[in-house]
Amino acid sequence: MQARALGNNLAILAMGGLLVGYLLLLIGVGALGQAQLRNAAEREAHFDLEKREAVLSYFFAERRDDMAMLAEDRALETYFANQALGMSMAYGLRASLLSLRERLVRLKQLKRVGDIDVYRRITLFRGDGQALADSLSEEASSMRWDNLAEILTADRPVILIGQDPGGPQLHAAAPVRYKGQLQGVVIGTIDSQRVLDALYPEQRDQAAQEYALLGPSGVAMALATGNRAHGPPPTARTAIFMTAVSGTPLRLAAYAEPRSGQRYFTSPWFLAALFLLAIPVSFGVWRLLRMNSQNLVLQALTEAAQRQRDALSERNVLLQAEVAKRLEYEQLLARQANFDPLTDLPNRNLALDRLTQAIKRARREQLRVLAMFLDLDHFKLVNDSLGHGAGDVLLREAAARLGTVTRDSDTLARLGGDEFLLVFTEIHNAGNAELLATEVLNALRPPFHIRNQEFFIGASIGMALYPDDGDTAEALLKNADIALYRAKHEGRNRFHFFTTAMDTDARERLALDSHLRHAIERDELHVVYQPLVDLQSRHIIGVEALLRWQSAALGNVSPVHFIPLAEDTGIIHELTAWVLQQACTAAAQWNRQRPLRLAVNISAKEFVHPEKLLATVERLLTASGLAPAQLELELTESLLVQATPAVGTALAQLHDMGIRLSVDDFGTGYSALSYLQRFPFDTLKIDRSFVQGVEDNPASAALVRAIAKMAEALGLETVAEGVETEDQVRFLGEVQCPLAQGYLFSRPLTAAAMQQLLERERPAVRPRLLVGN
Ligand code: C2E
Ligand code: CA
Ligand code: CA
Repeated sequence: MQARALGNNLAILAMGGLLVGYLLLLIGVGALGQAQLRNAAEREAHFDLEKREAVLSYFFAERRDDMAMLAEDRALETYFANQALGMSMAYGLRASLLSLRERLVRLKQLKRVGDIDVYRRITLFRGDGQALADSLSEEASSMRWDNLAEILTADRPVILIGQDPGGPQLHAAAPVRYKGQLQGVVIGTIDSQRVLDALYPEQRDQAAQEYALLGPSGVAMALATGNRAHGPPPTARTAIFMTAVSGTPLRLAAYAEPRSGQRYFTSPWFLAALFLLAIPVSFGVWRLLRMNSQNLVLQALTEAAQRQRDALSERNVLLQAEVAKRLEYEQLLARQANFDPLTDLPNRNLALDRLTQAIKRARREQLRVLAMFLDLDHFKLVNDSLGHGAGDVLLREAAARLGTVTRDSDTLARLGGDEFLLVFTEIHNAGNAELLATEVLNALRPPFHIRNQEFFIGASIGMALYPDDGDTAEALLKNADIALYRAKHEGRNRFHFFTTAMDTDARERLALDSHLRHAIERDELHVVYQPLVDLQSRHIIGVEALLRWQSAALGNVSPVHFIPLAEDTGIIHELTAWVLQQACTAAAQWNRQRPLRLAVNISAKEFVHPEKLLATVERLLTASGLAPAQLELELTESLLVQATPAVGTALAQLHDMGIRLSVDDFGTGYSALSYLQRFPFDTLKIDRSFVQGVEDNPASAALVRAIAKMAEALGLETVAEGVETEDQVRFLGEVQCPLAQGYLFSRPLTAAAMQQLLERERPAVRPRLLVGN
């Protein structure tokens, strides 16, 4: 494109150059030709001038010859001879004068061109200037020629210029001698017309130029002029050529241009016209070039624009691809922002959004919305024992089962971990909600098959209704969560509606938590010790450490309340360590009196990272100097149900250290007893609810009896908790339960009180304790 434009430009440039060159050539050639023509014309004019001069000089030479011949004429000689002889006029001299005059007339008549005389008159003057004879007049005596000296001294015939009243007059003159003596002068007055005839042999107006015969000393004498016969007399200064006419005092001058030089194509006007023509042409060429270059610029601009357009469109394509990619990515992000990648269910974000929408609709249509918060009960068991891959399989399976319960208008979402939210619209009453919750639990009831193992997972459900339990998505979710908490704490695999009391609970828990966090540093905690008694001897053989919190703000707070909270918030680790440390210190103190068994309650949460517990225990045993066999850790069945291999390992390690392990609140938890064989337990602590029922409740009695039997069979020690009456003691004796705790023997005591009790025991307490022994 640009190359083509460049080619065009070059072509135009070349054409312009050629045109200007052509014009210059034309002007040059014109000028040269003109100069040559002028030269030629000048040469011609010069030649013409010389030719005319030659003719003129010949003419004047003839005239001089005429006079010379006349001067030597016999008639003149005769006259002068007669004069010299002294002949008088009256006699012979007159006759000879007449003959002389006749001779002059005859000569005048003789010398003619065509039928016109060359001389106007021919006169003979005496030496003193007095005319003797004249061809025109018989009475010559009146004529005079004043200045003859010029002629007399010339010694030869001459051409003279005389002044007539009518203008300059040419004369041919010759001295007349007789016997060597100057006698006079013959002067022939030349007819000017004859001179002009000689000068212009052609028709005068055809002459190439104008001529003038000039006299000496620059005085203009238009003796003969051509075309300018009537113009102002030319001067020597205006002549273009001049040449002396030989044999005369005249100069022949040429005026005006040679005619050939005036032809139009050699005229300067022609050159001027050419030059003038060259100006617009050059301007045109310049304009053309400029336009072309402007064109070029335009073209370049257009091409640049085109290139830019191309680049832009190229960029556009890339951009579109980029935009498409981004869109895809954004959609992916949006999906990730709204969907759980594992189950492909809406996530918390979208769930809250859907719940909000459902509430809006329900508000318009006067309907209820049910927010069902669900937590899988034993997800951790699978996740911790089989790994996350198995956990994922379980979650997907659970999601699929939950999906069978929901309708299209409902929402099933995974909030994270093993938590799900189900939003049901068009609920009319709490009865609907209960049915739905039952359906959900039923869907999760059948065992999950994961890696060839069967798992009973179950779920806990908390429910909140719009508008009863909240009118925003957040409020409903929060309250459903509170209800869920309650369901979990009431033993799992159940559902619970939210109640305002729960909300109060939840608020209390919040307050509790914030105070509990400062309990240790504010010195609000202490440990009490409840004696463990040998039922046969009624001796104190040990103590159970129980934590007490005397809050400045809340008063006495039961561990039943704050321990689960501490477990939820994680403060439990701090509390466990603190209790262990206090208890070990106290037990070490009592060791001076009597070594006692020290039982400490250990939360199942401690086995999430059992290595910490192990380290703490080891450190405290060493520090306090307690024998490992003195320490007993009370664990709950819940830990064992969810026991992972790591828990088993930790229990084994504790056992290997020589530490005793007991199952607390035995009988209230899950009835899978296989763990008693799998883990190295030493003691079962029969829950006080059974112990306290042995007198009135045959089932409780049977259970306690069975537990005692089983323990015996497994080689485990049994401890009855919460013994309050002697009847209970008697029953325990019957079923051979050797050890007990309870208010009957002692309430939990402070360390100091315990110390005192131990000091008093031998003389005083023992007999009372050993009643019946
Ligand atoms: P637990 O381990 O079963 O502790 C025995 C509970 O029964 C204690 O309640 C004790 O005061 C109470 N008790 C003892 N004898 C009798 C009796 O004859 N009649 C009645 N009605 N109650 C009796 P406490 O101290 O309120 O403890 C409640 C629960 O708190 C404990 O149950 C235990 O699970 C937990 N707990 C207490 N201290 C700690 C601790 O330091 N760490 C952990 N993890 N849990 C603790
Ligand atoms: Ca206990
Ligand atoms: Ca207990």
